[in-house]
Amino acid sequence: MAVPCLGWQLEKAVHWPGEWFTRGRECMFNVFLIKYAEIGVKGKNKYLFEEALAVQVKYALKRCEGTFKVTRTDGRIYVHALSEFDYEETVDNLKTVFGISGICPVIYAEDEGFEKLSRTVVEYVDKVYEDKHFTFKVHARRARKNYPMSSMELNRELGGVLLAAFPEMKVDVHQPEAMLHVEIREKIYIYSMEIPGPGGMPVGSNGKAMLLLSGGIDSPAAGYMIAKRGVKIDAVYFHAPPYTSDRAKQKVVDLAKQISRYAGPVYLHVINFTEIQLLIYEKCPHEELTIIMRRYMMRIAERLAKENGCLGLATGESIGQVASQTVQSLAVTNEVCTLPVFRPLVGFDKMEIVDVAEKIGTYETSILPYEDCCTIFVAKHPVTKPNLNVIKRHEQNLEGKIEGLVEQAIATDQVEIVRWGNL
Ligand code: ATP
Ligand code: MG
Repeated sequence: MAVPCLGWQLEKAVHWPGEWFTRGRECMFNVFLIKYAEIGVKGKNKYLFEEALAVQVKYALKRCEGTFKVTRTDGRIYVHALSEFDYEETVDNLKTVFGISGICPVIYAEDEGFEKLSRTVVEYVDKVYEDKHFTFKVHARRARKNYPMSSMELNRELGGVLLAAFPEMKVDVHQPEAMLHVEIREKIYIYSMEIPGPGGMPVGSNGKAMLLLSGGIDSPAAGYMIAKRGVKIDAVYFHAPPYTSDRAKQKVVDLAKQISRYAGPVYLHVINFTEIQLLIYEKCPHEELTIIMRRYMMRIAERLAKENGCLGLATGESIGQVASQTVQSLAVTNEVCTLPVFRPLVGFDKMEIVDVAEKIGTYETSILPYEDCCTIFVAKHPVTKPNLNVIKRHEQNLEGKIEGLVEQAIATDQVEIVRWGNL
């Protein structure tokens, strides 16, 4: 059963100075206006971006109790609640949709004349703002031009009504603390608050990339950041049984699930990498193991990417973090790729990456101490300045066997569609 929507859970709103509002009172909102910033400036492509955003909004709402209708009118997206709904759950889910810059809870009322509108506006302000000591401005907009009053008249008249009802309030037309929007459409929309959204661009509006997802802190954060730019995410995890356990694999599935909260369903490819690792271990200098291994991961990830319509690869690498991520190492790793490799964390310090991981909820999972294939076959003194020609020469030691092992590894590909919740 849907929990009745209670306004007291609403975030501190951008446009108002006071404490939390409508504490313990009935929620009066039945619509959310979805604001989007970046996608508003995309010219001819705007339509496609809006469509992608509406799809993502609908997807996020499927996770919520209640029935909703998503509409697009005049360059705006509205979410209409058609049944009882859980306010907090709905807002929380909308806050995971990239492309949303703000979520405005709206009162949606019938047009029953100015008298009724005045009463509704007064009631709105009374419920939302416990403390009335703030400055405001009414911003009326007439999308329906046959409304008998002009926008200017509405601003003036409703401002007067509010001042009469709440003498503590003051008008400030330049920098009001609360902007009270009154939009006259088929019905009337009243709102004054904006809950910040995650920003970015709607997933699916910018192609698809293959994320190399390990169980660490970095790659999930990288996936989130790439998805935030509108890129759909497929992921690949290289495991090395029996050296890495099922628990380690499950950890990656859990991380993919957390990413899918923002990025939508993630197709997670799991590749058995053991034989390749053992061969590299046997045939190549141990200080070069990680680099050569990484080059094979990239090669296989690129094959999977191309087979699955991905236009690039994504990793959690950051310059200088470990030996395999010096500029020289990254250059050598990158050399095997023909697709672009997106490294959204490339200039981040570890603390900045941890901040992202904590924000998106992956940190706690990432720090679980399960073994990773890279840590098991790691050398004591890995090269920090690998020379490409030397690495290529040592890779020749693998020739004759490695080609077959790469094909075999790709044949082990197991795809799991990982979703947040049951969707
Ligand atoms: P993470 O990025 O998960 O924190 P890490 O810090 O251990 O991993 P490295 O081991 O240096 O970093 O790996 C660098 C990048 O290579 C990772 O960010 C990830 O994109 C990719 N990678 C490493 N190991 C794996 C693996 N087993 N499966 C898939 N991708 C991997
Ligand atoms: Mg790392």
